[in-house]
Amino acid sequence: MRAVDLIQKKRDGQTLSDDEIQFLIEGYTKGDIPDYQMSAFTMAVYFRKMNEAETLTLTKAMVQSGDTLDLSAIDGIKVDKHSTGGVGDKTSLSLLPLLASFGLKCAKMSGRGLGHTGGTIDKLESFTGFHTEISNEQFISQVNNVGMAIVGQTKDLAPADKKLYALRDVTATVENISLIASSIMSKKLAAGADIIILDVKTGKGAFMKTLEDSTALAKEMVAIGNGAGKKTKAVITDMNEPLGNAVGNTLEVIEAIETLKGNGPKDFTELIYALTEQFLFSAGLCETHEEAFRMIDEKIANGEALNKLAQFVEAQGGAQEEVFHPELLPLAKHTTEIPAASDGFIREIECEEIGLCAMLLGGGRAKKEDTIDPGVGFVLHKKIGDPVKCGESLATMYYNSDSVPGNVIDKFTAAYTIGASAPPAKTLIYDVIR
Ligand code: URA
Repeated sequence: MRAVDLIQKKRDGQTLSDDEIQFLIEGYTKGDIPDYQMSAFTMAVYFRKMNEAETLTLTKAMVQSGDTLDLSAIDGIKVDKHSTGGVGDKTSLSLLPLLASFGLKCAKMSGRGLGHTGGTIDKLESFTGFHTEISNEQFISQVNNVGMAIVGQTKDLAPADKKLYALRDVTATVENISLIASSIMSKKLAAGADIIILDVKTGKGAFMKTLEDSTALAKEMVAIGNGAGKKTKAVITDMNEPLGNAVGNTLEVIEAIETLKGNGPKDFTELIYALTEQFLFSAGLCETHEEAFRMIDEKIANGEALNKLAQFVEAQGGAQEEVFHPELLPLAKHTTEIPAASDGFIREIECEEIGLCAMLLGGGRAKKEDTIDPGVGFVLHKKIGDPVKCGESLATMYYNSDSVPGNVIDKFTAAYTIGASAPPAKTLIYDVIR
């Protein structure tokens, strides 16, 4: 087989066989197929697309290119979630303890973040002493005993994807549904869970801006997951404004804790319930929406979900009392209110701009080497649809610089559109793809 023939075949709109796709991925991972041929191939896929069978084969080939997590020593149903990402997305921090309180097992490999705020691990490091350097044995025994563990990327999961994604990034071939779906799902499948629920965001602050594109991506990922023998569903959710009220690492941890106590913001709570419900259905733990919500209410009211978070934080070296007393978590030295510039209703919030503001305060990384200031960020007091008076606070800003960062305030204020009338009611959960 020759790469050039396969590039030509895809260029001409033909379907590639399993062997041909495997040949390309194996050859590329080993370095036998050079970047210039692989970029020609991804460009051919970009224009000619891949069908469902080709996409599944591509994903499986990328899974086989590296390590996979062996979770066979974990008793019970192993679950995993993935979010396509957005501003204020602290979902794992509340969702995983809640799932663990139902006896589901979450063995998660997670990343640090590049961008507006940190990743899940950066956020968890807000707890004094929390760390992710645990041995393989502890990882497995902790998941068995506590129900959850989170470690950094220690294994080389789907290295073919790592190489291919970096190549796509510089050859204008990221935006193809099959390539995105196989990229995300290769990492999820290598992580070994039995049930995967995907939170596919849609809207201005999401990777996929339109409902149509988000639905297409969700369908493709669900088909791959189920095709690979994993129970997979996707929930399509709104990302036209930050999720919840907190944007910033420690602030998001506090909000996640409050949500596990039943005091979370409405939208974030709704998302946590919707995702948990899908896990409960897939795990066969309940059958109706009412039953699912009643079960979740109970785990929150009786404190079991919060206790799970505390057990997990302690198991990984963190200060358990900070879970029960989040006021102990250190925040930035200074706060200031950001006033609204006019009367009216909040019509739009450019959430990527809000994320950028959090990064400018030091809450995110522009480069891999940057360190994060966990205590900075924003607590939003006004979200889309809320009435507002001129001078009323849109948000509280937490910052550590000696002088007030006026540039950030200006940027933050400009991210809000205030109009004379209320906008149409918003939807948070658009669809569930089964
Ligand atoms: N995220 C990924 O992991 N891969 C893509 O291709 C796009 C987003």
